[in-house]
Amino acid sequence: MATSATFQQTFLLNNNLGSLSSITGTKLCTPSLCLREKTHDSSRKTLSVTCTAVVPSSATPRTGFSDPVQEEGRVFNFAAGPATLPENVIKKAQAELYNWRGSGMSIMEVSHRGKEFTSVIQKAESDLRELLSIPANYEVLFLQGGASTQFSCLPLNLCGVEDTADYIVTGSWGDKAFKEGQRFCKANLAWSGKATKYTRVPAEEEIQLNPNAKYLHICANETIHGVEFKDYPTPKGDTTFLVADMSSNFCSKPVDVSKFGLIYAGAQKNVGPAGVTIVIIRNDLIGHAQQSTPLMLDYKIHAENKSLYNTPPCFTIYMCGLVFEDLLAQGGLNEIEKKNVQKAKILYDAIDASNGFYRCPVEKSVRSLMNVPFTLEKSELESDFIKQAASEGMLQLKGHRSVGGMRASIYNAMPLAGVEKLVSFMKVFQANH
Ligand code: PMP
Repeated sequence: MATSATFQQTFLLNNNLGSLSSITGTKLCTPSLCLREKTHDSSRKTLSVTCTAVVPSSATPRTGFSDPVQEEGRVFNFAAGPATLPENVIKKAQAELYNWRGSGMSIMEVSHRGKEFTSVIQKAESDLRELLSIPANYEVLFLQGGASTQFSCLPLNLCGVEDTADYIVTGSWGDKAFKEGQRFCKANLAWSGKATKYTRVPAEEEIQLNPNAKYLHICANETIHGVEFKDYPTPKGDTTFLVADMSSNFCSKPVDVSKFGLIYAGAQKNVGPAGVTIVIIRNDLIGHAQQSTPLMLDYKIHAENKSLYNTPPCFTIYMCGLVFEDLLAQGGLNEIEKKNVQKAKILYDAIDASNGFYRCPVEKSVRSLMNVPFTLEKSELESDFIKQAASEGMLQLKGHRSVGGMRASIYNAMPLAGVEKLVSFMKVFQANH
């Protein structure tokens, strides 16, 4: 918890300072220094100012301005993706960049079919399998084209053109997947949260499922709207399977992979830099692509070639491997989930305790642990909020252009100190306005 200290200073006014009306609280205060009182004595030409400084507590030494990461010139990056990476992973990559483990080459320069990269991709896959306890009858593919390419791959590989696939749409990404699905199969909109501005997930009885659907698609965590499924819907037909876009909550918590036919995730939020999309697919679903499916979009070709049909994004896969090692070293996804729950709670509690100064539109039971969208009651202050936060080393807090407001993405690699600092800043900003 942050503590505060109050102090007072008196300034002698001179003619250059202008009229008192131009001396505003925000001009005199930094965001972490909150103006309590100002007294103007016009006869003595003095201005007396009392400020409260919010000081990070000693119990959480990495909070606030003494954070060692920030002292090294790093900021707290709240971007939705590409997003912040674990500092030890970046440092490890930096240390072995020039001469990767004695090979005399960087990992960017080695052949993707050589022993060096083979060991990298195999280790990345086995660590991911361990993290998510991926059953043996699932393939792990490292693909390119982003999660957006998967929007087309799904119907092309899992449906015939005349087959139905159900889509539950809880935000913009699910909507994009649905629209792409419509191009390659009979995509059925089983439920849409558009009318309620994508602030909730449906109750089971609201969903219009088709018993003949090949699959039921969900976006497990909507990155823009901050809506996250906490339980997964059950597909209707006996053979219908669940497909999930987990781009923005991949490896943020344990997942029972056996509940899904296919899980896909772009790396650039929780597990690495942009450039690779991970697909985890039950192996009986491979090999049924529509006739016209381009080879590069056919899961079969990538499964048969162990993701090496063509040149893969080697450096990105290497970085994901380092992140997986780091997640295992932290105790695996149960431990990661605990940390994520703690960080999200601090932020949502601060929003909810602000008497409406900050607002999160998402229904409480499905608020995302990863992407926290919020607005200011006084929306005209939003650009000041973002600017002042940036001046304190907290970047990329602007909400997505389609929804406005603010969004704090607090993926696995966002330290607790970053969230604590944001919350301290929010309290001071509120006190100042
Ligand atoms: N799905 C979700 C949930 C996303 O957040 C994003 C990217 N922000 C995408 C899909 C699209 O990913 P890409 O840009 O890698 O195609």
